[in-house]
Amino acid sequence: MKSLRFASAEALVSHPQVALQSLDSVAHNLYPLLFKASYLLERVEVIRVLLECWPLEEFRLGALLGPSADHAGDLRDRACRACLEACVRGLADHVLRGRGQQRLQLADLTGVRDVQVQQCPCGRALGRWGRTELLARTCNELQVGPGTAQRSIKVLADLFVTEGNFQVVMQALGPVGPAPLRLRCLSFRADSLDPSQLLQVLCLAGPGELRRLQVVHNVRLHAGLVQQLLAQLRFPQLSSLTLPAKAFDTPPACAPATEGEDPLLTAIAWELSQMTQLTELSVAFSTLTGKIQKLLSPLRTPLRALDLANCCLNHADMAFLADCTHATHLEVLDLSGHSLVHLFPSTFFRLLGRAAQTLRVLTLEECSIEDGHLSTLILALSPCHQLQELRFLGNPLSASALRRLFLALCELPKLRWVEFPVPKDCYPEGATYPQDELAMSKFDQQKYDMIAEDLRGVLLRAGRDDIQVSTPVFGSFDPDIQETSNELGTFLLQAFKTALENFSRALKQME
Ligand SMILES: [Zn+2]
Repeated sequence: MKSLRFASAEALVSHPQVALQSLDSVAHNLYPLLFKASYLLERVEVIRVLLECWPLEEFRLGALLGPSADHAGDLRDRACRACLEACVRGLADHVLRGRGQQRLQLADLTGVRDVQVQQCPCGRALGRWGRTELLARTCNELQVGPGTAQRSIKVLADLFVTEGNFQVVMQALGPVGPAPLRLRCLSFRADSLDPSQLLQVLCLAGPGELRRLQVVHNVRLHAGLVQQLLAQLRFPQLSSLTLPAKAFDTPPACAPATEGEDPLLTAIAWELSQMTQLTELSVAFSTLTGKIQKLLSPLRTPLRALDLANCCLNHADMAFLADCTHATHLEVLDLSGHSLVHLFPSTFFRLLGRAAQTLRVLTLEECSIEDGHLSTLILALSPCHQLQELRFLGNPLSASALRRLFLALCELPKLRWVEFPVPKDCYPEGATYPQDELAMSKFDQQKYDMIAEDLRGVLLRAGRDDIQVSTPVFGSFDPDIQETSNELGTFLLQAFKTALENFSRALKQME
């Protein structure tokens, strides 16, 4: 649905020459409307000039693209490269035109979602990393020498920093002289950085304001570095923290923690307990056997999202999880990589029972769930009436077990998204789990298609065509990985090469 006002705005921006000529006589409160219409139609020349002349104190991209009374469409999932580049260029033009006298005080460029398929006419996306780099370069180009102080525009962005854009981001965040664009961020993602670079860039990014911090993949941290990072920067406003794999490993020079004594873990837990807004914690692929209580019990806020995938949890950890205060607040839970139903059936059952009132997203990939576990699983899931997304790839379930499970899933009223494994029947006899990528990819596609069709039929006959089901064999789409895969690959190859060189040097020394 769109209003007559919006239709007029579309008509105007469809003739860029006319639009640009008449912009001076357009009422200021129509700029947001013209902006959304230009973004929808990808009229980049109009977008750029709208930003250049923006007459209001604030420009908030997410709010401008969201549904409004004039146009119900939501354009926030269009990370259109052409439009976003035009926004940033227009912002630079605004600075050059205004020379410190401009009305604009805040440009909030957050709020765009990165999705797999771009719906915009050009179909080309500018992801979070690319947006970070473009914005940082633009900030740097506008930086002026010392002395000419002027009013600056605060620019809010979700930053994604790697080795590849580290230097430009550092310059943008910590300009030497006055800067007309003052870059700030509430959400920060780091990959392929060494720990000292991470510390430097976070210092400049303003840890005091940061809400969301994701440190992932190729940032090699250990418990000592994590403790140092949290103790030095504090992050008083942080609500969401993701740490990379092995983040709780003992530092190389340290003696391994003894039974019951783990000063680093205690120190990290204390730092976390000082973050009074923390509600999301992701520490997947860190060995935390027997440590969950120590880590989570000091927290002062109940967690809404918890990712403990592949953390080698034991009975004590599961028992704590099932009984702790966090359990009754959890909305998003990932316990992949643990044989939950086989090893901890009663605590797993209790945990889901206590989380049932809040749990929206549950991930149980590679949890060794077999046909024999199905009754327990169905029973555990049955009270989860708020569940919207369920992912359980990589479990050795047969087609008939999946069929039974799907019948039970039809009873979950809010369920909309299911990722199910390739049925065991589609793999050669004697296939073992967990599978590596090669083994995972070698299945009978024709047989899979037939079974998947049958499973969809189960949902359809129950009137549940609102549930989307799929089997993303190599994992779900990750826009950030997609965008930086080349750099990640190079980083890994470099690390491998260095390791080989060290090895051969060590061999030579032995000779
Ligand atoms: Zn586009």
